[in-house]
Amino acid sequence: MKNKKFKGISTLTLHTASNENDNFSHTTPIYATSTFTFDSTDEGMERFKGADKTRIYSRWGNPTFLVAEKTIEALEAHGLKNEKGEPLELKALLHSSGQAAMSTLFLSNLSAGDTLVSHYSLYGGTQELMQKLLAEAGIKTILIDVRDIKLLEKTIQENKTIQLIHLETPANPTLQCVDIEAICTIAHQHSIKVSVDNTVATPYLQQPFALGADFVFHSATKFLNGHGSAINGVLLGKDLTFMQSKVWKWHVLLGGNSNAFDSYLLIQGMKTLEIRMDRHCSNTEKVAAFLDQHPAVEKVNYTGLAAHPDHAIAKKQMKKHAPLISFEIKGGLEAGKKFLDALEVCVRAVSLGTVDTLVSHPASMTHYGIPREERIKYGITDGLIRMSVGIENYEDLEADLAQALAKI
Ligand SMILES: *Cc1c(COP(=O)(O)O)cnc(C)c1O
Repeated sequence: MKNKKFKGISTLTLHTASNENDNFSHTTPIYATSTFTFDSTDEGMERFKGADKTRIYSRWGNPTFLVAEKTIEALEAHGLKNEKGEPLELKALLHSSGQAAMSTLFLSNLSAGDTLVSHYSLYGGTQELMQKLLAEAGIKTILIDVRDIKLLEKTIQENKTIQLIHLETPANPTLQCVDIEAICTIAHQHSIKVSVDNTVATPYLQQPFALGADFVFHSATKFLNGHGSAINGVLLGKDLTFMQSKVWKWHVLLGGNSNAFDSYLLIQGMKTLEIRMDRHCSNTEKVAAFLDQHPAVEKVNYTGLAAHPDHAIAKKQMKKHAPLISFEIKGGLEAGKKFLDALEVCVRAVSLGTVDTLVSHPASMTHYGIPREERIKYGITDGLIRMSVGIENYEDLEADLAQALAKI
């Protein structure tokens, strides 16, 4: 793979695969086609037999998807080696959404009678998928605080059907972090695989394969795309045979393929991942410090603050602190609503990872499907506000926050 020679992330996202095409197009062509032609039946047979499934039928693969997949593989594998000391090779499968990639992940690794373990602070859709849909398919989910390693070991001892541990770190929206390396070590002693949702950190800040993960998942809708212009998801694995056989089968037959236009938007977005992330991160650090000292703010969740319970683990496994925060305003839900309504620069919307700052209210939006008692236990209180800090000029963000806080 070409990425071996790239020292930096921006060079990698710009040059890994973007201009690999037959017609000398500088940018990646949008192959808006359902099917691909064969010059002869023999050629058709060869393509069906081969490992490259990107020129047969677009549910199976497509040259535009391939460029996005190769770029994400290069990002997650950047600078890493396998057990033999060779550059790490990964297989990525691009999906129509994060949820589609997650369905492939769970269904290709778990079947009726199996058990899945996860940390209790999770993206709302992930938790619903586990507790509502996987449960119907006979797959049990145990949600615990996996930061408690003794509890995790006890859970593994008591449940012999655990096949997969799924981690989301930092978790959206509590920013709780779990120790990927420590959990992978325990899991592998029991032949349990580990998957990591790396959406919030991105491969620029955190590389779970370096810490022992078997699978990495992204909602590519978020920071990887960066502009809020498309929905995409990706599942990566380091067991290439397993990825190309069982995982690929589930991916193709569940039908969660991406489309050429959204893939193109993702490819364009990833080109600026590094410079966007640097700005997102520096703005977030300043926003968190501003909110933390503000008399109207009760509490700020940001892994960069020394008071965050997972500050140390975040520092250990991420290059910088991820650009997502959540906070509570004094006066709870009512004050929070007034604050949200007064914002003029920050945009009221769910989702995260876009170039502009997005603010949302998890209890009534992304985590509406989780019972109140449960979400409060996980730290998602009624008044919690989530903020995905954008790349605006910091002075404008601070001025907007200050004027909105003055109105509550
Ligand atoms: C958005 C998100 C998902 C789901 O991804 P979609 O692209 O919306 O399907 C999963 N995990 C996390 C952490 C997310 O933020």
